[in-house]
Amino acid sequence: MPPLWTLARYWAGRLGYSDDDLAVPFCFGCGTEMPYKKRAPAQQRWNEAAGRLERAHLVDRWCGGLDGPQNVIPLCSLCHRLMPTFGIDQGDAALAWVTEGGCMSFLLDAWARVVASGAPGGPASSTRR
Ligand SMILES: [Zn+2]
Repeated sequence: MPPLWTLARYWAGRLGYSDDDLAVPFCFGCGTEMPYKKRAPAQQRWNEAAGRLERAHLVDRWCGGLDGPQNVIPLCSLCHRLMPTFGIDQGDAALAWVTEGGCMSFLLDAWARVVASGAPGGPASSTRR
């Protein structure tokens, strides 16, 4: 698979990020910035983020997704774990999941369902008394 820097530059171009936006390695889903060496060039910063930033397939490999930059995007481990499985004809839906906030969107939706259900432990239960 391509190195993180290659993926970052590919997706920055497709999603309208500037070169300045790539100075700090970040998750393309939730936007979380990764630690980096201050004096290192951007390419080194991105490639050294491996382990914290993961190379996530938009279309799953076992569904026929390829290992090229058009199908692999840098995500934090939480976004990568929470990302649903997308099939061979769902690349656009996968990219939408990522660009609509990744794990942050997932967690906010889950929280909204807890609130709406009035489940014990949700905010509705603490305001009833
Ligand atoms: Zn993320």
